[in-house]
Amino acid sequence: MRTQLDLHLAEGYESASQKVRVLTESWVGHEAFCPACGNPIKKSGNNSPVLDFYCPRCTEGYELKSSKNPFGQKVLDGAYDTMIKRLEGRNTPNFFLLNYSPRNYAVVNFFVIPKHFLVPEMIEKRKPLSESARRPKWVGCNIVLQNIPQTGKIFYVKDRQVQSRDNVLQTWKRPCFFEKKRRFPKKPGFWT
Ligand SMILES: [Zn+2]
Repeated sequence: MRTQLDLHLAEGYESASQKVRVLTESWVGHEAFCPACGNPIKKSGNNSPVLDFYCPRCTEGYELKSSKNPFGQKVLDGAYDTMIKRLEGRNTPNFFLLNYSPRNYAVVNFFVIPKHFLVPEMIEKRKPLSESARRPKWVGCNIVLQNIPQTGKIFYVKDRQVQSRDNVLQTWKRPCFFEKKRRFPKKPGFWT
């Protein structure tokens, strides 16, 4: 696994957030593998707005969050109600978290949070936006990382060090207290 993002891919993009998205999505698409089965993962089609990647073999879905800063105790996510519905429904994704260095565009930390660790107790409701905001009264949410146990963060890269593939696959298989909530098997091609 290389940890360097390919800066050539960002040429031609004006917005910083678009650049980061292109760089990090490309890196994950090339370097990451499905932690559940070891298969290469694929980028989801544009008609799957909530999912960034999926595994064509075992149908696990993944959402990617990237940041140039190390992740703190909380990670900002989208609408609170949507998130809770997703956690209670069939389409809960796993979360990839990627933190890169803005100095040399190398990946510093990259880990996956398996979906069975994401229960509503791990999601914090944020204060509604004000009346004058572009989306008045909109309520977002945070994923509270500090509530997620260590076994719920499976590292591919930790402090710039690439972790062994076997370790990722073995850690994923460890039984989890929350597992009983899961789940309905999905058919191949579910996310496409
Ligand atoms: Zn898989």
